[in-house]
Amino acid sequence: MSCIFCKIAAGEIPSKAIYQDDSTYAFADISPKAPVHILIIPREHITSLIEVSDHHRDLLGHLMWVAAEIARKQQLNNGYRIVVNAGEDGGQTVEHLHLHLMGGRPMTWPPG
Ligand code: 5GP
Ligand code: ZN
Repeated sequence: MSCIFCKIAAGEIPSKAIYQDDSTYAFADISPKAPVHILIIPREHITSLIEVSDHHRDLLGHLMWVAAEIARKQQLNNGYRIVVNAGEDGGQTVEHLHLHLMGGRPMTWPPG
């Protein structure tokens, strides 16, 4: 498996850990687009939201819960943005499902 995010979740590539549990790992984005920019990933290799199936429903809810929990701990009380890029048209560059949690400044819309 040559997936960079699988390697990060396994600790084979260093990252700044923010949160972890049995199913989920969260770490600082290497190229932050906001003062707070954290990636939340399942430990299971899922290529993107395009590939999820019925048995991923609980996991997807958990990933969203983790994002909200991290936002609380980071005291993003003024708000934040969660983004999931899926596939080529979605602008996804790393083919392992991930949520972006971004905050610490007003986020513009649309993102482009
Ligand atoms: P995407 O464009 O696929 O939605 O987002 C991929 C994100 O992963 C980008 O924001 C990029 O900065 C981040 N990223 C890519 N490679 C690495 C890495 O090796 N370490 C970390 N921490 N982030 C990465
Ligand atoms: Zn992976």
